[in-house]
Amino acid sequence: MHRSELTIDLGAIRQNAGTLLRALGEAELWAVVKADGYGHGAGDVARAALAGGATALCVATISEALELRPRFPGARILVMGPTAARDIVDAHLAGLELVATDDAIPEGVPIHVKLDTGMGRWGLGELARPPRQVVGLMSHLATADCDPDFAARQVERFREATSSYPHLTHHIANSAAALRLPAARFDAARCGIALYGLSPFGTDPADDGLAPVLAWRSSLAHVKLLQAGESTGYGRRFVAREPTWIGLVPVGYADGFRRDLTGTEVLVDGERRRVVGTVSMDAFAVELDAELPAATPVTIIGDGILAEEHARVAGTITYELVSRIESGPARAHRTAGGG
Ligand SMILES: *Cc1c(COP(=O)(O)O)cnc(C)c1O
Repeated sequence: MHRSELTIDLGAIRQNAGTLLRALGEAELWAVVKADGYGHGAGDVARAALAGGATALCVATISEALELRPRFPGARILVMGPTAARDIVDAHLAGLELVATDDAIPEGVPIHVKLDTGMGRWGLGELARPPRQVVGLMSHLATADCDPDFAARQVERFREATSSYPHLTHHIANSAAALRLPAARFDAARCGIALYGLSPFGTDPADDGLAPVLAWRSSLAHVKLLQAGESTGYGRRFVAREPTWIGLVPVGYADGFRRDLTGTEVLVDGERRRVVGTVSMDAFAVELDAELPAATPVTIIGDGILAEEHARVAGTITYELVSRIESGPARAHRTAGGG
């Protein structure tokens, strides 16, 4: 019996790829599978995304790319994060594409030159005539999810800076822009979060036609009755006012169930129940309205509980929440199906 089960719905990934492709029109869909596919398992996600019509894989680091390469010998793999000169040989041997963020444009591998049009991180402020190994021109949007006017200005800057090089592949859109900013489409869009059926806007993914991919389930490991005045967990943050049944779920912040998720809701035997008290490293508590047997099913994400709800309670975004779910065999059991 595992402490928790992660279920990845590969059919939903293919469906989300379809939704993005419809929104993108002529532009290609490139699947962003960095951070182990946002915690969903990069290999499984990549396979489903390619089956669903994606034409390239994007990761953040050379190591992530090298890990994927043997499973996807023919796929285009773009390393979006900064790389060092010593990585070029590995990248060349593995047939990777890299991103250049300054004038030092490496030779021997296909390069995408990144322009800083407003993100204020990596990228060139101005584009000089690109050398021969450059195959793509890219930029990254800072506000596609929250300030479409600024995003549109970034898109315009990108268009002006790159218009002299129509033979190169132009790409700037992320999920939010792919879904809601048609001007950002260009030749390809690099989409992560929407592929996982999570809303880039922090709202219900169904609003954008997206289907959640990940479900996270566990069960009650122990049920106990607190008498009035008794508490559960560190710091005595939850004290029972009257006799109260408490269920303990064997999932904690070391599993990725963050400490600031106190107050969020999970499903216990199909009913919404509140997480109470301090979340421990290996467990959290839920308030019940009656005694339930141990092993009663608990859904943390899925079955109508959205990751977006937890993100709101924790004051974060689903990106951080799901990429930090610990899926190693010591903590959880992950299966991918529907592929
Ligand atoms: C992570 C990332 C993306 C994907 O963003 P989503 O909002 O998940 O679609 C696109 N481009 C770059 C450069 C990224 O780092």
